[in-house]
Amino acid sequence: MTFSDQLLNWFDKHGRKDLPWQQNVTPYRVWLSEIMLQQTQVKTVIPYFERFTQRYPDINSLAVAPTDDVLALWTGLGYYARARNLHKAAQTIKTKHNGQMPKKIEQLIALPGIGRSTAGAIMALAHNQRAPILDGNVKRVLARYYQVEGWPGKKPVENKLWTLAEQLLPEHRIAHYIQAQMDLGATLCTRTKPSCEQCPLKDNCQAFLHDFPQNYPHSKPKKIIPIKETYWLVMQSQSGKVLLERRPPSGIWGGLWSFPEVESPTEISDICTEKFNLNIATVSIKPSFKHVFSHFKLSIHPHLIEGTITPMQINENNNGQWYKISEALLLGLPAPVKYFLHSLQ
Ligand code: SF4
Repeated sequence: MTFSDQLLNWFDKHGRKDLPWQQNVTPYRVWLSEIMLQQTQVKTVIPYFERFTQRYPDINSLAVAPTDDVLALWTGLGYYARARNLHKAAQTIKTKHNGQMPKKIEQLIALPGIGRSTAGAIMALAHNQRAPILDGNVKRVLARYYQVEGWPGKKPVENKLWTLAEQLLPEHRIAHYIQAQMDLGATLCTRTKPSCEQCPLKDNCQAFLHDFPQNYPHSKPKKIIPIKETYWLVMQSQSGKVLLERRPPSGIWGGLWSFPEVESPTEISDICTEKFNLNIATVSIKPSFKHVFSHFKLSIHPHLIEGTITPMQINENNNGQWYKISEALLLGLPAPVKYFLHSLQ
C-alpha cells in the first residue's frame, strides 16, 4: 500500500472531520484557519475562528473593516503581523481579484502573509487541487519517515522535503490526504512523544525502524560562540582603594567603569608600574569566570594586585581613578565588575 493510501485509510477512521473550518468549506475559511493555526494550537484557535467568521463572514466584509477592529478581534492570539497581513491581503483580493480568492498558487503566494505551504493548503483543502504543503507537522512526519538528515531551516533540506511532499501526493482525495498529513503530525507523530505503535506508517518509517524518531527533524545547529580572554588588573592600594577606568564610549560596556585589562599576564607588572604608578607588593590570581555576550564569551581572569601608589608621578596615559569600594559601587559598572567589587568588600 502506498504512503497516501495508508494515510487515507487511517484518516477515514481517526482523522479530524468536525473542526469548524471543515464545515461550510470556503477558500476564505480555509485561509483564515491556516493563518490562525500558525504557531497556535487547534483548541486555542477554535473560539477565535468562530468569533472572527461571525463578524467577518467573507473576504469583502474583512476588507472594509477598520484595522483596529480586526486587531481587537485577534487580541490574545498573538503574532499580530498575521492579522495585519490577513487584512491587507483581503483588501488586495477585493481590489485586484474582484473579492474572489485567487485560484493559482503563484497569485496566492503574492498576497501578504501567504507562503507556499499556506497557499498549498488553500489549493488542496478549498479547491481540491494537487498541491503539497509543508507545515511543521508535515516536515516532522516526512523527516522521520525518510530519516532526512539536517535542519529544515537550511534550504537544501527544505527543498528535499518539498520534493518528497510533492512526490507523495495522491491523484485523488487530495483534501483528505492533506488533512490526514496534518492530523497525523498533530495527534500521533508528535514532537516529543510520537505514538509509533499506533501509526499507519510504522512499517516503513525509517526513523522508527533505525533510530529515535524524536531525533528528527534535526534541530537548528547551535552557533559556536568564540571565547575571548582578558586579564583584569584589580589594583588595590594600602588604604583599600581600587583603580577603575572609564571605558571608551563605544564597544562593550561603553562608557562604564571597569578594571584595566591586558591581553596577556606578562604585561601586568609593566602596566601597573608604568601606567598606574603602583609599587607592586603582591599579585594573587583569583578564580576565572565567564561573561556571555551575544557574539562571544569573555573569559575573565582577575589578578588582584596590592601595592602602594606613588601619586607624585603624573602619567597622561592614565585615565584611572582610585575609589573606595563603597564609592565605586555607585558608579555605572558592568555586572561582572560590580560582582567582583562586592567580593572584595
Ligand atoms: S512511525 Fe512514529 S515517527 Fe514514524 S511517522 Fe509514525 S509516528 Fe511518526
